[in-house]
Amino acid sequence: MKQSVKLIAGNWKMHGLSSALSEAQALKDAVAASQPACRVALCPPATLTDRMSRTLSGGGVELGGQDCHEKVTGAFTGSVSAEMLADAGATLVILGHSERRAAYGETDADIAAKVEAAIAAGLEPIICVGETLEQREAGEAVAVVSAQVAGSLPDGLSERDFAVAYEPVWAIGTGLTPTLEQIAEVHAAVRAAMVKRLGETARPAPILYGGSVKPDNAAEILATAEVGGALVGGASLKAEDFLKIVNAA
Ligand code: PEP
Repeated sequence: MKQSVKLIAGNWKMHGLSSALSEAQALKDAVAASQPACRVALCPPATLTDRMSRTLSGGGVELGGQDCHEKVTGAFTGSVSAEMLADAGATLVILGHSERRAAYGETDADIAAKVEAAIAAGLEPIICVGETLEQREAGEAVAVVSAQVAGSLPDGLSERDFAVAYEPVWAIGTGLTPTLEQIAEVHAAVRAAMVKRLGETARPAPILYGGSVKPDNAAEILATAEVGGALVGGASLKAEDFLKIVNAA
């Protein structure tokens, strides 16, 4: 399991046309020059996967998808399977992002099925969990996130490479972040839930933090206990900003 180095993954969400491939090229060049101590990945929209795979080929930046269908093929108009992502050059996939849980009603069981599909296709899943503001204010953050971990991680996962990303919903795209104490508290709870669900073999899997990670707060977040990397949205769109986060790891 790849756990000793941090993973900094960029989630481009529904941003990026052909012209944005120049940012991937700039990141690849900068990573080649600076040889960061962490793993670096970009997760573009599905339409860019194949071309970004060519852009990143031979360099130090890994490539991921943002979601996949749980089935390999079938009558699922508009969907992309894990095998298709892998075929287009991806090696990772984000699953269970809160935007998909909220906008598409994805449940923990749906996400566990997608994780199994990703593993079967040889992809490394990044499984997202996180509480809403309402849940945090009700004192339910740890319980909510622990239940999401228990429900979203399928049996046998700990034998494969995977990561969990703790992303408080209220911190995504808002500029708000939890305190470092809050991050440490939830990451410890996520670790405990992972070990309870999968056993001690799940201990090495990294737990990423996500939610308004920027160049100016990355170093302190990445130095917090049990933070094994970052999932970065807005600040991953420009290579210059993303590289500052990479270099803070
Ligand atoms: C995300 O998309 O997972 C995310 C954390 O976004 P942002 O960094 O923009 O808050």
